[in-house]
Amino acid sequence: MERKRSSELWQAANRVLAGGVNSPVRAFKGVGGDPFFAVSGKGAYVTDADGNALIDYVLSWGPLILGHAHPHVVEAVIRAMEKGSSFGIPTENEIRLAEKIIAHYPSMEKVRLVNSGTEATMSAIRLARGYTGRDLLIKVEGCYHGHADALLVKAGSGLTTLGVPTSPGVPAPYASCTLTMPFNDLAAARALFREHGDRIAAIIVEPVAGNMGVVPPAEGYLQGLRQLTRESGALLIFDEVMCGFRVALGGAQARYGVTADLTVLGKVIGGGLPVGAYGGPAAIMDLLSPTGPVYQAGTLSGNPLATAAGIATLEALEQPGVFESIAKKTGDLCAGLWALARSAGVPVFQTHVGTMACLFFSTNPVRNYADALQADTQRYARFFWTMLDSGIYLAPSQFEAMFLSAAHGDVEIEKTLDAARKAFASC
Ligand SMILES: *Cc1c(COP(=O)(O)O)cnc(C)c1O
Repeated sequence: MERKRSSELWQAANRVLAGGVNSPVRAFKGVGGDPFFAVSGKGAYVTDADGNALIDYVLSWGPLILGHAHPHVVEAVIRAMEKGSSFGIPTENEIRLAEKIIAHYPSMEKVRLVNSGTEATMSAIRLARGYTGRDLLIKVEGCYHGHADALLVKAGSGLTTLGVPTSPGVPAPYASCTLTMPFNDLAAARALFREHGDRIAAIIVEPVAGNMGVVPPAEGYLQGLRQLTRESGALLIFDEVMCGFRVALGGAQARYGVTADLTVLGKVIGGGLPVGAYGGPAAIMDLLSPTGPVYQAGTLSGNPLATAAGIATLEALEQPGVFESIAKKTGDLCAGLWALARSAGVPVFQTHVGTMACLFFSTNPVRNYADALQADTQRYARFFWTMLDSGIYLAPSQFEAMFLSAAHGDVEIEKTLDAARKAFASC
């Protein structure tokens, strides 16, 4: 597949952008080789700078649940733009988007809109600390919550080890307020609460993990975290930036019947424009400025283009059968891929929840980050490049999710399985 123009652009990008990109995953380091440049997208397809149309299973890393340039979203954004792009004064659509979110996430009585998932998780944690008057945060290994200081902490070596910053530039005292524990391990959570219980402000977790590949919660895990936090007066924060509106319309809390104190959303609720949101009971949310002392603000928060795109996306997604149909196609694709891998003798561990999926090139089941790291990333990289050359764009890393949209039809799934047959045979 010709990628000449993309190569030229990549060289130019590296001259003026740090690392050639504005977000590291775009550089394809997880699979080696150079990224392609996108020029346009329509439905399930993204077209690159050399004119290749690729079936897109990344979908801007999750937001585009209707596919690229859905007519309803395009029209809503154009209409909003014509009326003015930003006011810094309240607008009605902020209410409408919040109402839609609350209708699906009843644990959120009140919402605050921001501009990204990172901003939303960072702010939710500040609020949890303000509400509880405690400093410590528990983060789960392999979960990603954006790039705020307190969250860039990887696994400590033992359960009681205080966090070590993963990135230079994070002051050690910030990182030391973050404790880490493995996903799907209630015993580890209990041990942290035994030792630090009355100092823990919150647990933040992706209830369906999507940033170590897709790893569903084990039976009873989320319920166990709910009970531990309730008993110790800590808050349970569900980071549903990725899994919100993707594992069910009501997210993981609807799917698993567990209620979070604070919920963080992003991605799908912006329909491809920059949005994040966090919310919870009024008694907690009213601590935010201007009613309360916990400060958080944003010049462009609740931006008219972003709220228009978000509302239009949720409207289309709420139509009867739309979500179920995307989830069903996700299941069909996964079943097909699994069968092909099996008949090619390639060991894979397949996970999927709702409209998110992952194919771990691994002989062992994946229940947490340590398991995920066992996957054969080189083999995944070979699979990725063969698929790309056949016109199928998968996430350029083993540790990312595969997303479907309402625009992925049987034709696309068939083309994908045809390509996968070849790719499994040669990886
Ligand atoms: C993408 C993501 C974030 C960060 O959102 P940005 O909009 O990239 O800042 C936070 N949490 C989870 C679970 C995510 O998947």
